[in-house]
Amino acid sequence: MAIFDPKAKVIAGYQRTIDEKKKAVLKCYDEIGRLYYGQYKDMSVDVTKDINSRCEAVSTLQKEIRDLELKILFEKGLKVCSNCGKENMLAYAFCFGCGTKFPDGEEENKEVKETSTPVVEVAATEETIEIEEEADTEASEDATEETVEEAAEEEKKDAEA
Ligand SMILES: [Zn+2]
Repeated sequence: MAIFDPKAKVIAGYQRTIDEKKKAVLKCYDEIGRLYYGQYKDMSVDVTKDINSRCEAVSTLQKEIRDLELKILFEKGLKVCSNCGKENMLAYAFCFGCGTKFPDGEEENKEVKETSTPVVEVAATEETIEIEEEADTEASEDATEETVEEAAEEEKKDAEA
């Protein structure tokens, strides 16, 4: 039945790649061992560069394997807590194992973008309102001053008359 499940096919593909990479890691370990033993037998041979290049290859492969393992979990609707390593449902905002808040993942990013866009719009609208209010206030202040001056002039006229 699993053959007809597209997700299972994707997962199997990831798993094959992981297996290949794990073999490549073992090959690197094997070569590192041989190189090191060669240097032990003949101290005049410097294999540091060869060993380092294979160590770097192992680090890269292990990172790729971890990423693939996470992809498999993602296909299964799971994610791993970076704090305690417990598997959680993708929808969880907090780890049910240790309560650590999950960083925004690929799925959550969409939600964050959707919610953040209106927030930005609201902020922009508020700024516009503030600017408009300031402008109105200045205008009304000017108007008030004019009115006061006019009133004062009128008072003078009244007094003169
Ligand atoms: Zn946790």
